[in-house]
Amino acid sequence: MPVRFDADFTLTINGNGVAGASSFDVLNPADETVVAQAPDCSSEQLDDAVAAARDAVPAWSARPIGERRRFLLEMAAAIDAHAEPLRRLLTAEQGKTLDDAATEILGAGYWLRETAKLELPEVVNEDSEVRRSITRHVALGVVGAIAPWNFPLGLAAFKLGPALLAGNTVVLKPSPFTPLMTLKVGELLRGVLPDGVLNVVSGGDDLGPWMTAHPGIDKIGFTGSTQTGRKVMASAAASLKRVTLELGGNDPAIVLPDIDVPSVAEKLFWGAFGNSGQVCLAAKRVYIHADVYEPLKRALVDIVRTVQVGDGAEHGVQLGPIQNRSQYERVLDLIRDAKDAGFEFLIGGLPEEQKGYFVPLTILDNPPEDSRIVQEEQFGPVLPLLRYDDIDDAIARANASEYGLGASVWSGDPDRALAVGQRLLAGTVWINEIQHLTPSVTFAGHKQSGVGTENGLEGLLEYTVPRTITVRRNQEVS
Ligand code: NAD
Repeated sequence: MPVRFDADFTLTINGNGVAGASSFDVLNPADETVVAQAPDCSSEQLDDAVAAARDAVPAWSARPIGERRRFLLEMAAAIDAHAEPLRRLLTAEQGKTLDDAATEILGAGYWLRETAKLELPEVVNEDSEVRRSITRHVALGVVGAIAPWNFPLGLAAFKLGPALLAGNTVVLKPSPFTPLMTLKVGELLRGVLPDGVLNVVSGGDDLGPWMTAHPGIDKIGFTGSTQTGRKVMASAAASLKRVTLELGGNDPAIVLPDIDVPSVAEKLFWGAFGNSGQVCLAAKRVYIHADVYEPLKRALVDIVRTVQVGDGAEHGVQLGPIQNRSQYERVLDLIRDAKDAGFEFLIGGLPEEQKGYFVPLTILDNPPEDSRIVQEEQFGPVLPLLRYDDIDDAIARANASEYGLGASVWSGDPDRALAVGQRLLAGTVWINEIQHLTPSVTFAGHKQSGVGTENGLEGLLEYTVPRTITVRRNQEVS
């Protein structure tokens, strides 16, 4: 049944709800009906949001960090308290199940609370009779936070927590495909944060480039595709804005011959197909030792047969649709390419004519290493299984990618798996698990999967600039 939210969605600028200069439709990907209209922020309205954020910097950054910590906790409490309506809205615009939507929303609150515990380090460089010198990390100013459509609030929280804790103010932009829940979060935080500290804007394809080029923004925190990341970096270069870029991935999973097939199959399935494959850290190509290739492939196909795909708002559904039409077309294009090349499909393939962007869960049997489905980030429920005999060959193939976001190794012997994991070129390598991230642990991408880090102390420091202050104590010139 179509979900329609009649309540208005407004931009948050300087603590006020502001109608867009115009509006655009946001679709439910499960049935292509209009969920609601979102405000389309004009360039003048972005100027207003940036000006409000700039005006708020001096007072916000001058507060003791303990006060900003408390604001983060209040933000988390406000989000938690509204988790029920927010998760319904997220499912309606994003497509994920209500359970997954709740996990994301409550996870955002958890991220804010945990980030609030981080400390900004202080280094005493010299403390002598002659001088005292201390380096502290201070706010950069205004942060432009740009989020993708797969985890709109979860990935916004990766930026909001450290940016605000460090004393910056923020202009947050969700994806035009999933702006609604983020706009509502902006609305409910109006009463929590001082005016101008958090501004939320939504709009069309021009809005992101306006932000990256805006002279009033000091830093861009961006999560999205590698292709867009390159544009963000090029645009930010004109004013030497700082950037943190969390980008695409084509994560390999390497399966050693000594696994327990049923339990690894279950974990790998969800590691590859969770959120319908629309996870930056999904297992996107699975290298399986020849000794366990056949049983693992059968176990994965058996799981696919049991999983219910449908409208995420319906009871019992485990996986939803692809989030938007252009991503849907891209995934279909990869399936068509594999079909045309004559690759073997173990299950799945092209969908029937239908409403909604549903793709059958698809597994391919050992396509060539240089095929598009192996080399490109599919970001959808299509998984290539790849057979190997020699572990050196598997590692070389796993590393032969422009991406280096995550990787996983699966074995009954964790030490043996660790020896393999240490040879993988990825920002996060898991042994016998996958996608485990925490707010206190550095998350980064190797190669073209990213620039900079999120989470943990290193992620917090990305929202600061060092300031060294030296006090001369002895006035005599030596
Ligand atoms: P996208 O790059 O199309 O869009 C991301 C955001 O950037 C959106 O808000 C979009 O409106 C905005 N944008 C688009 N063009 C822009 C421009 N020229 N300048 C500034 N902003 C612009 O990405 P997506 O399709 O929303 O998300 C999917 C991609 O994100 C996948 O590649 C996925 O792997 C990646 N991703 C990475 C991580 C990570 O942490 N590394 C996490 C989730 C998703």
